[in-house]
Amino acid sequence: MSSLLIKHGTIVTASDSFQGDVYIEGEKVVQLGASLDNSADQTIDAHGCYLFPGGIDAHTHMELPFMGTFSSDSFESGTLAGLHGGTTSIVDFAIQTQGDSLEAAIQEWHRKADGHAVGDYAFHCAVTDFNDETRKEIPRIIDHHGINSFKTFMAYKGALMVDDRQMFELMKELVKHGGIITSHCENGDMVDHLVQKHLEEGKTEPRYHVLSRPAICEAEASGRVIDLAWQAGCPNYIVHMTCEEALERVRTATLRNQRVLVETCVQYLLLDESMYFQDGFEGAKVVMSPPLRKPKDQEALWAAINQNLVHHVATDHCPFCMDQKEMGIDNFSRIPNGAPGIEHRVELMYSEGVHKGRISLNKFVEVTSTLAAKIFGLFPRKGTIAVGADADIIIFDPDVQHTISAKTHHMNCDYSAYEGWQVQGKTRSTVLRGMVAVDDGQALVGAGYGQYLPRGKFNPLY
Ligand SMILES: [Zn+2]
Repeated sequence: MSSLLIKHGTIVTASDSFQGDVYIEGEKVVQLGASLDNSADQTIDAHGCYLFPGGIDAHTHMELPFMGTFSSDSFESGTLAGLHGGTTSIVDFAIQTQGDSLEAAIQEWHRKADGHAVGDYAFHCAVTDFNDETRKEIPRIIDHHGINSFKTFMAYKGALMVDDRQMFELMKELVKHGGIITSHCENGDMVDHLVQKHLEEGKTEPRYHVLSRPAICEAEASGRVIDLAWQAGCPNYIVHMTCEEALERVRTATLRNQRVLVETCVQYLLLDESMYFQDGFEGAKVVMSPPLRKPKDQEALWAAINQNLVHHVATDHCPFCMDQKEMGIDNFSRIPNGAPGIEHRVELMYSEGVHKGRISLNKFVEVTSTLAAKIFGLFPRKGTIAVGADADIIIFDPDVQHTISAKTHHMNCDYSAYEGWQVQGKTRSTVLRGMVAVDDGQALVGAGYGQYLPRGKFNPLY
């Protein structure tokens, strides 16, 4: 069994920071100490660097068939880009085709990922058609496939959206078997109405994307799913929350001691809706749902991280190249929704969060890794640096500055919404299950190194 010793780092977890060494055998951390002198096959000097648990991005879409095309990163290119930035595990969405089974979706996502992914991966199961047949599949999905999280879309009417009855019945079923409901919260009917109204008025530019999806659509749906989950007694996670109005619904729920788990994405913390109002077709680069919001919403989201109202910062990584975006050049509603993000999430959260004094180092680890592992049944195998855990470690140099550009990133996308951004701090090396996967920009592992991660049932004690 090969061994690796990482010396002289500052080990940071969600709760602790200390100077020390990490000794790894095979895929696992076997010893932590102030000064270890184990002989190892390989020794890395991490002087001046932080050692963070490998990043977990709990919201990605690789090779997603969507809006008449496919997202442009495969499991291979997308997870490798993640490793370059320090993300070692993803949770992608196996999305049911309406009229088809959940099992078929999961098989399809295994076909895309198995033998291809470079980083580790798990799946959420997105339920787009909840009926008596689907209901029967739930226990097997949880117990056999190791998938505890089930997503519902409250928007994308006619393609992915379920109604409240389907959602409520799904929740009741999940309570029985140890699952958790996750939801895309936007009022799909309200959005549909506004899209149609704008198109009828000849308003076709990218800016009408955000003008068709006001914050109230998201706040209403967030409040509704929180109430349904409360009534069903079902653990509840809201994906990609963007705005103050929706956070207010979460805060209200805490007054009755309801635990609502909330994800936001790095772009909602850092980018705002003014990008939709740029000249020409530029705004298409950030057409995603929900849309970017106002600066006051960014401030509310940063505050909510520190108030423990937001638990995870993901990406909703769903890249499309500009020639794909151009499917909507005459009609904003045909612009494929999504943007690239997986590669820079960890570095941006460090630079804009820790370096700029908005969040602590421990909070940074909590929202980029630890809580996602706890919520989705991967802890303590993933999400921390501890004896017995997988040796997934970012060696992060806080002194290196770099500039984000589509010319140098590893995602399969010909633009970056962060083009030209100066970033403080860089992932120097990424260790995945005891192997140095990326070192100084060089990939040292390839397609098929990534493993599927079956997950445990939702554990309310974490
Ligand atoms: Zn998504």
